[in-house]
Amino acid sequence: MARRTGFGVKPKQSLGQNFLVDENITKNIIRDLHLRHDDVVIEIGPGRGALTNHLVKHVKQLTIVEIDGRVIDHLRQRFTSSNITILHQDFLETDLSMLKSSVKAKLRVVGNIPYHLTSPILFKIFENAACVYDLTVMVQREVARRIVAESGSKEYGILSVFSRFYGVPTILFNVSPNCFYPKPKVTSSVVHLQLHQSYPHVVDLKMFHLVVRTAFGKRRKTLRNSLRYLPYEENTLERIINSAPTLMEQRPEQLTVEQFIDLSTHIEAIIR
Ligand code: SAM
Repeated sequence: MARRTGFGVKPKQSLGQNFLVDENITKNIIRDLHLRHDDVVIEIGPGRGALTNHLVKHVKQLTIVEIDGRVIDHLRQRFTSSNITILHQDFLETDLSMLKSSVKAKLRVVGNIPYHLTSPILFKIFENAACVYDLTVMVQREVARRIVAESGSKEYGILSVFSRFYGVPTILFNVSPNCFYPKPKVTSSVVHLQLHQSYPHVVDLKMFHLVVRTAFGKRRKTLRNSLRYLPYEENTLERIINSAPTLMEQRPEQLTVEQFIDLSTHIEAIIR
C-alpha cells in the first residue's frame, strides 16, 4: 500500500508536498528560530503539522496558511489552542499587512515551503518587508546558494541582490532528501533572512526593481547592452549609457547591491 501522510491523504506533487519526517530536523529548525513567547509567527504550508506542533507551544500567536483543503479539517481538530489561527488559503494571496496590523507586531514567517513557489514567496516577503521581522524557510540547496551569493560569483543573480537589499541572508544547515516523505530529488537547505529593521537604502524601489531585473534579464551582456531594454526613448537610453561608461562595461553579476542602488539613483536623476 502506498505510504500516506499522517492524515491519510496522498502527498500531492503539484502542491510541493514533501513532508518532514525527521524529528531532528524539525527540532533543529525550531532551535535556530530562537522563539520568544511574544513572537507572532506565520507558518506557510503546515501540511500535517510537523513544525506547527512545536511552534504552537512556543509563541504568542501562530497563524498557519495551508492551501490543501484535504488537511485543513485535520489541522483544525488537532490544533485547538486559542493562540492558533488556521487559514485555508493561498499564502500568495494572504494579506500580511492586515495580519500585522491586527497583532501590532512584526511577523516572523516560517515554512517548509513548496519549492516551485520559492521565488514568488520571497518576492511577497520583499514587497511586505515593512511587516516582516524575519523569514526562515526550507528551499532547494541550489536556490539557497543563489539567495546568499555574493557579487562576482556564478550563483549571484536577482534573488541574491534583492535578498541582500532587503535583509541579511544566511544558510542555517542542509537537509538530506531522506528527511522527507516522499523523498525529493534534491538536497535542501534551511535559509534565514533577517529583514533590515530600519531601512538603510535611499532609493526609488520601483526603479531599483526595474534596473536589477532589466540588467539580469540579459545576464551575459554588459550593462551597455542590457540596459537598452529599459522602457525609455532612444535618446534617454543613450544619456544613461554614456553617463557612466566604465560601469557600463560590467556584467550584472559583477555589481554589488550598493552599485545597483547607485545606478538606480543615477538613472532616476536622468529621467526625472
Ligand atoms: N510543513 C509541512 C512539513 O514540513 O511537513 C509541509 C511541507 S510541504 C513541503 C509544503 C506545504 O505547503 C504543503 O502542505 C502544501 O499543501 C502547502 N502549500 C502548497 N502551496 C501552497 C500555497 N500557495 N499556500 C499555502 N500552502 C501551500
